[in-house]
Amino acid sequence: MKLLKKLLLIAFIGFSLVSNAQKINVRIYAAKPIKEVSFVSSFGRYKVKFGENETNIQKTDIIKLRAKDDKVELLINDSIIGKYKNISFLSQGLMNFFLVRPSDSTIKEGRYDDNLMVSIDSKNRLKLINNIETESYIAGVVQAETWGATKNVDFFKLQAICVRNYLFMNINKHIKQGYHMCDDVHCQAYKGRANQVEVIQGAYNSKSEVIVDSAGNLIETLFHSNSGGETVNSEDVWSKPFSHLVGKKDSFSVGMKAYEWEKYIKLKDWRRYFKDKGVNIKDDSIKNELINFSQKEGRKKDMFGIPLVQIRKDFGLRSTFFDCQEWGSEVKLKGRGYGHGVGMSQEGAINMCDQGFEYWQVIEFYFTGSKVKRIETDKIINNINELIINDNK
Ligand SMILES: [Zn+2]
Repeated sequence: MKLLKKLLLIAFIGFSLVSNAQKINVRIYAAKPIKEVSFVSSFGRYKVKFGENETNIQKTDIIKLRAKDDKVELLINDSIIGKYKNISFLSQGLMNFFLVRPSDSTIKEGRYDDNLMVSIDSKNRLKLINNIETESYIAGVVQAETWGATKNVDFFKLQAICVRNYLFMNINKHIKQGYHMCDDVHCQAYKGRANQVEVIQGAYNSKSEVIVDSAGNLIETLFHSNSGGETVNSEDVWSKPFSHLVGKKDSFSVGMKAYEWEKYIKLKDWRRYFKDKGVNIKDDSIKNELINFSQKEGRKKDMFGIPLVQIRKDFGLRSTFFDCQEWGSEVKLKGRGYGHGVGMSQEGAINMCDQGFEYWQVIEFYFTGSKVKRIETDKIINNINELIINDNK
C-alpha cells in the first residue's frame, strides 16, 4: 500500500509538472568501457527504433546491445536483429523508466527515467545517452549527493537549484561529443533516477530557478557537509576569490551530526612531518605551537606557512578547522566540520530549513550577495541543441 501510494505520488508529480518540459542528453557509464548491456523496460511502455524500423517492447523481452566495430548489434530474445549506427528506446507513456545491466558484472546496473539512445564512441565502445527530463536529471544528481539526509523538501529544493546552476554554467561542456553532461564527477555524479519523493518534489518545485550574483550572472554553488561553525573563503582553498564565497560565522552547523571530530597522531610523526617541510622544530616557540595550535578565535589558513588544506590532505583530516593538544605520546587533533568549508554547509542548510527559513533565505545566507532568479531554461537547452546538431553535421 505504501509503495502504491508512493508510485501514485511520483506519477502525479510526473503528470502535473512535466508537461512541455525540455529534455537533456546525459551520457551514462561515461567513464566505463561498456561493450555489452541489457535493456529492461522496468515501468511504463517502450518502443525500440533501429534503422527504418521500430517495434514495441514487451515486458518479458530480453534485449541486448553489443558494440561491433562502428555499429551496435541488437538482439531481441537471443535472435540477432541486425547492426545499426543508432538504436533508440523511446518511452510511450506518462512515466517510464528502464534498467541498464552491463554484461560486465563488476559494473553496477542502473535505473533511468525516460529515453535511451545507443551508438558507438570513438573507442568502439557503447555510447549510452539518457535523454531525460531536465528536472528528473537534477533530482537524480541531488539524490546521488544527499541520499537519506532529510525529508525536508525545502532542503532538496535548494540543493536542486545548486545542481541546476552547475548544469547551466556547463551546459556546453560536451557539445563536441553530442551531449550535454556526462554522469561522472567530471560533470556531476549521476547514478540514475531519483526515487525519494521529497527529492523529486524539490527538483520540480524549483523548476527554472537558479542562483545569480548581483550582476545577474550564474554563480559556482559549492557545498560541503558541515562548516564547523565558520565557512571558508574560496581563495583559502583554491586560491581564486569569489565575492559570494566568503568565510562567515555559521551557527546553524554547530551541534549537527558531522560537527565534531577527533584524530590522534603520534607526536613523533607530527613533528617529523613539519621537520620534513623545513620547519625548525627545535625552536621552543614552534615546539610549543605544534601541540597548542588553536583556531578557537577563528579559522586560520596555515601552520608555520604550510597551508592547512595541505595538512588536511596529508593526514586525511575531515576538515582544516582543528586545534592541537598534547595527549601522552600523541597529539590530539580536535576538529570541527566536515569538508572544504566553502559555500553552503549541507547540515547547516538542513537545520535552517527545519527551523522554518525559506530555501531562498538559506541560499542568500551561504552565498553572500546572491539571489534566486527564474531563467528560461528550456530556451537555453533549445539553443544548445541547435549547436549540437550543427556540430554533428
Ligand atoms: Zn563531463
